[in-house]
Amino acid sequence: MKRNNLNEKEAILKGRGKWSDPGVPHKGWNCTDIEDLGGLFGKCEMCESQEIRYVHYMKHPDYLKLLGVGCICAGKMEENYSKAKLRDDFMKKRSSKRLRWINNNRWKISRKGNDWIESEGYIIVMMEQNGF
Ligand SMILES: [Zn+2]
Repeated sequence: MKRNNLNEKEAILKGRGKWSDPGVPHKGWNCTDIEDLGGLFGKCEMCESQEIRYVHYMKHPDYLKLLGVGCICAGKMEENYSKAKLRDDFMKKRSSKRLRWINNNRWKISRKGNDWIESEGYIIVMMEQNGF
């Protein structure tokens, strides 16, 4: 994780991607949303080099498009690293909570062979889908 942060920092310092594009504002952005991709499946649209899992969607009044960026770029774009870091940490905590939930609940097996659990009054059944 540390290595990733360093990479994005380096990418900013080296002016990678849109950091050297004069048509793209470099500050004054606001985060509108954050998404967990579940793995390093995304690429920061600002430095265009950092692979990202948590996508910070940034909006700017002078730029039409939303940019999905990594934590460090987001912090620089909104000039508030700790705010971006808090969002990132919140998402990390949330995803580990979900994983714990999956691992801690006792799954049972139905007569048809599907895994199921009862949680908070709901019955949740995992079923295999054909055609995939
Ligand atoms: Zn970036």
